[in-house]
Amino acid sequence: MPFVDGKTLLTHAYENKYGVGAFSAHNAETILAILEAAEEKQAPVMIQIGQKVIQTLGLQPMKDMVDSFAKDFTVPVCIHLDHSRQYEQTMAAIQSGFQSVMFDGSGLSFEENTRITKQVVNAARALGIGSEGEIGKIGGTEDDITVDEKDALITTTEEAVDFVNETDVDYLAVSIGTAHGIYKQTPNLRFERLKKISEAVARPIVLHGGSDVPDEQVQQAIKLGISKINVDTELRQAYTQGLQDYLASNPEDIVLANSLGAGRERMKEKVKEKIDVFGSAGRAEAFISEQKVVTL
Ligand SMILES: [Zn+2]
Repeated sequence: MPFVDGKTLLTHAYENKYGVGAFSAHNAETILAILEAAEEKQAPVMIQIGQKVIQTLGLQPMKDMVDSFAKDFTVPVCIHLDHSRQYEQTMAAIQSGFQSVMFDGSGLSFEENTRITKQVVNAARALGIGSEGEIGKIGGTEDDITVDEKDALITTTEEAVDFVNETDVDYLAVSIGTAHGIYKQTPNLRFERLKKISEAVARPIVLHGGSDVPDEQVQQAIKLGISKINVDTELRQAYTQGLQDYLASNPEDIVLANSLGAGRERMKEKVKEKIDVFGSAGRAEAFISEQKVVTL
């Protein structure tokens, strides 16, 4: 199981102009849906552990479960902590062997955000773990944090540059017109701003709220420096739809492997679609040979 750190994974994507899907996992079936899709597509992949599932199943059990399943797969896998708003939790993930962590201080003052992010960057880097920070506020609802749409500020080039200079974070989440959750209307990404920020910070940029962004916009964003695309909502919709369709046709079936398995299959198809859109299909072999990834 070739686990790789987030910086190595995303640097390859950045240099080769493709996007790595960072897909959120919520249980055993969703972990397998992501891993199976990545394996079939031979795509490097990130599995995100978010705040909701940490509240319900726990950080360590999710990490252990991914570890346990991933040993049967060959593609590069990176386990990522999504939207941690606590320094202690971010450090716990670093200690437990995540290959990538995000400290989200976007709700804090610039000074607090940079101060804590810098500490996380230093601790993660010492152990060869990738780090993500966020500057600007990404709108919408995710993991119980609601940002008023009026407050969903587009990241300025200046604040992005200042933040990167202060923290030297490996990859940067910015607000360029996407939102978490279900869109009320089709988003329009701010390509001009993305281009300026990308050129100024010269490192991988992360697109949050990747669900339901039109494929052409995502592909344009990848050309301009987006290397990690977070997808959660669309995967949960696919999983739920697969489960609902199965139960509608088989209302008496209480074999959970069947109903949950139907959700898993539907979600796997969605992950494969996204991998094709992001251009990461077939990249695993080149990545492994170029990076001389040590198989653990
Ligand atoms: Zn997010």
